[in-house]
Parts: sequence; structure tokens; C-alpha cells
Amino acid sequence: MSNGDFNYTANKDHTYDAIVIGSGISGGWAAKELCEGGLKTLVLERGKNVVHLKDYPTATKNPWEFDHHGYNTLKIEEDNPVVSKCYAFDESTHHFFVKDKQHPYIQEKPFDWIRGYQVGGKSLLWARQTQRWSKFDFEGPARDNYAVDWPIRYDDLAPWYSHVETFAGISGNHDGLETLPDGEFLPPWEMNAVEKTIKERIMASYKDRNVIIGRCAHLTQPKEIHLEQGRGQCQARNLCQRGCPFGGYFSSNSSTLPTANKTGNLTIIPNSVVHSIIYDDKKGKATGVRVIDADTKQATEYYARIIFVNAAALNTNLILLNSKSARFPNGFGNDNGLLGKFIAFQNYRGYINATFDGPADSYYYGRRPTAVMMPNFRNVHKQETDFKRGYMVFYTATRAGWGHETDGPQIGAAYKDAVSEPGGWDIYMMMQGETIPKETNHVFLSKDQKDDWGVPLLTVSVDYDENDEKLKDDFLKQGVEMLEKAGCKNISPGDNHWNPGLDIHEVGGVRMGKDPKTSLLNEWNQFHNCPNVFVTDGACMTSTGVQNPSLTFMALTARAASHAIEEFKKGVL
Ligand SMILES: Cc1cc2nc3c(=O)[nH]c(=O)nc-3n(C[C@H](O)[C@H](O)[C@H](O)COP(=O)(O)OP(=O)(O)OC[C@H]3O[C@@H](n4cnc5c(N)ncnc54)[C@H](O)[C@@H]3O)c2cc1C
Repeated sequence: MSNGDFNYTANKDHTYDAIVIGSGISGGWAAKELCEGGLKTLVLERGKNVVHLKDYPTATKNPWEFDHHGYNTLKIEEDNPVVSKCYAFDESTHHFFVKDKQHPYIQEKPFDWIRGYQVGGKSLLWARQTQRWSKFDFEGPARDNYAVDWPIRYDDLAPWYSHVETFAGISGNHDGLETLPDGEFLPPWEMNAVEKTIKERIMASYKDRNVIIGRCAHLTQPKEIHLEQGRGQCQARNLCQRGCPFGGYFSSNSSTLPTANKTGNLTIIPNSVVHSIIYDDKKGKATGVRVIDADTKQATEYYARIIFVNAAALNTNLILLNSKSARFPNGFGNDNGLLGKFIAFQNYRGYINATFDGPADSYYYGRRPTAVMMPNFRNVHKQETDFKRGYMVFYTATRAGWGHETDGPQIGAAYKDAVSEPGGWDIYMMMQGETIPKETNHVFLSKDQKDDWGVPLLTVSVDYDENDEKLKDDFLKQGVEMLEKAGCKNISPGDNHWNPGLDIHEVGGVRMGKDPKTSLLNEWNQFHNCPNVFVTDGACMTSTGVQNPSLTFMALTARAASHAIEEFKKGVL
């Protein structure tokens, strides 16, 4: 991009101590920490503003208050073949998802890119499952010879996990497991009677397996630190993706952004599409960002001593690839040619349905926002299988009926009778597997196609490999065996053949590492060759682990921000 393409309206009033690109889970944390550290911080967000409570138009609607009872119409599905595959995309949440036609990208191989462009990003939409990584995850690449060695270990991040857990509010049980370290927990959710029976039978059958209740970012019992944020107890409504009127789950909108705002140091400018980062060849560092107004398309610039890139993994790659200068002709920081490469994701392909002859007089209350889970038990202490790494297992036991699966029209006396009686017990089990980052799984800029804001379209070229197939097959075999041992019936395993991306856990492209020749970022998430730019969203991840990723993004962000504040105050940055 040559300077001539821009209509500059910039002036020096546009100067802050720090700029954060993106206001989702990681950007919200960067904003909070930097503002609390005393830095005047500008958050640039490409989407519209979403103010907690005020901008949740569907949060308290009943099904009959929607035009289509909350369901997608055929037309919506036809117009949105990608995003409509996401389980959370329905009539009650459309307004928080990017529609397919609004923001096109190029799929060199099938990839379902699920996005939320607004203040709060996907923090409004996420499923809120939060587990710490263990030492085995950080040691994985070095031990098993893939990707590159992480420049940090579990002990480096542990205090920062505690920091973010305490503030966000994470419910969980203290299970004392090496494979899934405990955190700063609020009271856990409970397993129901059948889940407990299955747990007992699995644990009695296998020495290497643990079954625990899931850990999630819900306030089961808010503490002072949460009440101060204006948040209250989770009501187990499970309508979270509409925005929670109780602040019962963690989102940027309910938690980090209002806290940053209270410091008086925060400025958020929505509808600001960051086009690229400005690198000053003479100063030898980044000096700001170029922004296009989402509505007027007018270009401007903002300046700061520190820049945090938190646009979510693939958009962070896009911004950096588009940030070309004399010093970095191939994209920001890209001396080694690895920017956009070694993308990874998580393998959700395997699932198993079953039934269980459980107690007919046992019920459960509310819509629990988590599942029963099993930390990875494959290749934990050493390589044992013919595939690398492993997977986590989730399962639930729910009662059929209650109107959910009745045949015929959902109206009339027969329907009312049917919905007043719960049916038998259904079991659902699924996997969340690690994928191995590969150079061939990459993203790059289109040479000839641009979006409405003049930014080249992102091309995504990401696929499964043989390791992923073997891992999925192993889960299906082990899962069926575990459910058999637990006494389940009608066990039916399947492969959903999901495209990569639908896991919504994509990472990589700007990985951390020790060596500037083989990685982009150092142990503090700074570019090796431009330390005043930090990347702390999923793009920084060297490998994926089996855990849900966002808690780790939060902890990495808070850690990096603390380092940035220190260096800023010392005058190093
Ligand atoms: C349905 C669903 C379920 C999920 N479940 C879980 C779960 O249970 N556990 C878990 O850990 N994770 C889960 N995730 C994933 C989780 O939402 C993401 O990992 C997390 O939001 C990533 O945080 P982020 O800050 O990187 O990106 P986001 O939260 O997506 O925020 C990025 C922000 O950057 C903005 N942006 C992008 N480009 C630009 C630009 N050029 N200029 C300015 N702003 C820009 C976007 O508009 C967005 O607001 C789920 C996601 C979805 C959608």
C-alpha cells in the first residue's frame, strides 16, 4: 500500500500511550490492564458499539416474541452457508455474527470462518469453557518434535491464570490433576445422577482417566470483585449468546471494558477498521496504525508508543500481512517468511450418541452452562500411540422429551401432554483434539481482490492431515468402549466431517518462540524485530493444546501487558 492511496486526516491529537486493535476477549484484557497501569489507551474496533445491558435486544425475549420462534429461516441459511453451521447462530443472535456476504474471504480449502465484529467481539458469543493448560501442553512441541519450542512454561503463566480467573469468575472443582491444573474457582456446577454413574464406571475401569465437571466463566457465586463490576449470579438460562442481562458470564462488555473505562484512561472508537500498522524506518519502530472509518471509508491515523494486536487470530494475521513498509516488505515483522504459517485449530470431528437406562424419577434443575469432561489421557507422559498428542472428551446426560423431540405439530393437547413428561436418558459425547501446526496450513493476502475498505481479502488454506484422522478414530474407539463399560446402550459413533474453522479455536501464524529465525514473537509476545508491537490473541500460539483456548489468551495478554507497562515506565518502549 503506498501512502498515495490514502486521504490522510491525521493530526497529533490522535496520539495515545497505547493502541489496542480489537475489543474481544484478548483486546478487552489488554485494555483493562494497560488502563489500570496508567496508560492512555485507545481501543480501535471495526464493528459497532455494543453497550452492556443496553444493546442486548433479544436477551429477555420469549420464543413466541421472535418472528420465527428463534429459528433460522431457509433464506437465512441459503444466504449464509458458512456462519449458519455454527450452533449458536439463530434468530436470537444474528446481530452478533458476521454474515457471509458482508465480509468475504477466500477458501483455498474449505474453512468455516466464524466471526463477531462488534465491541466485545466473540466474547458475547463464546461457550465460556475455560481450562488451564498444563506443563505437558507447553512441553509438547519440544518433546514430540513439532512446531517450535514454546519460550515459556506453565509456571510462567500460572500466576497470570490466577489473575484472570479471579477477575473473570471461573467455576470449577479442585480436582488436583496434573493434566488440568486447578485454578481460582467459584463453586462448581453439579453432575446429574446419570453423569455421576457414568463417571464412576469409567474411573473404575481405567487407571489413566479422570472425569470431572467442566470449568466455565460463569458466576456461580459472585464475589465482591464481580459485584464491583456490576455483575450478578448466573441464572442458568443458557441464553448467553444474546448477551446476559445479569452479567452472569464473562464478556468484554460486562467485565474488562467497563473496568478499563472506570480508570478514565480508555478511549474506544468503534467502526474503525484497522488497515495496517505504521512502521517508521528512521525510528526503527512502529508508530501507529492506519484506520478506515467503517461507514464513511475515510482514512486516518492514530499514534502510540505501544501497539497490541488483538483482532482474533486470522484477522491479526491479515492486518500484519497488510502492514508493508520498506523495512518489512513482506508483512509486519516477517523477516523469516513465517508470518501467516503454522495455523492450527482443534479437531471436533468425532461424536457419539447413546442412551442409558437411568432413574425415571431423577431430574436436574436449570440449564447448566457446562458439560462433564475428561482431560487428555493420550500420550501424556510419553509417546504411546501411532498419532501425536491427544484429545479432551466432553459428555452430557440429558432427559429426552419435555417437548424437545416430540413428533408432529408443536401445538394442541397431545403436544401439551407430551411436553409435561420427561423421556429417557440420552448421552452425548464429543472430542476436542489437538492439531499439529504445519507450514502448509497457512493464510495469505489475495493479490487481486479487496474488501469494501480497500483491504486485500484473506485467503485461507488449512486442512486436516493423517494425524487428525487417527486421533479422531482413536477417540471414537475409546469413547465407544468407555460408554460400553459405563452401561450405555444404542451407542452410535459418528464423524461430522466438519471443516476446519467451525471449532472457532483457530490459532497461529504469528507464533511465539525463542529464535527469531523460526518464530515471530518473543516470550513476552513482542515482535523479535519490533518490540513495541505485541500480539496476544490466538495468532501468537505456538501450538493448540486440547483445552478451550480463550483463558490462555487472557492470561498471555495480561502477562504481556504487565511487561509492556513496565517497559513503558522505564522508557524502554
Ligand atoms: C459460538 C462460539 C463458542 C465458543 N466457545 C468457546 C469456549 O467455550 N471456550 C473458549 O475458550 N473459546 C470459545 N470460543 C472462541 C472464543 O470466542 C475466541 O477464542 C475468543 O473470542 C478470541 O478472542 P480474541 O480477542 O482473539 O477475538 P474476538 O473475541 O473475536 O475479538 C476480536 C475483535 O477484533 C475486531 N477486529 C477484527 N479485525 C479488526 C480490524 N481490522 N480493525 C479493528 N478491529 C478488528 C473484531 O471485530 C472483534 O471485535 C467460542 C466462539 C464462538 C463463536
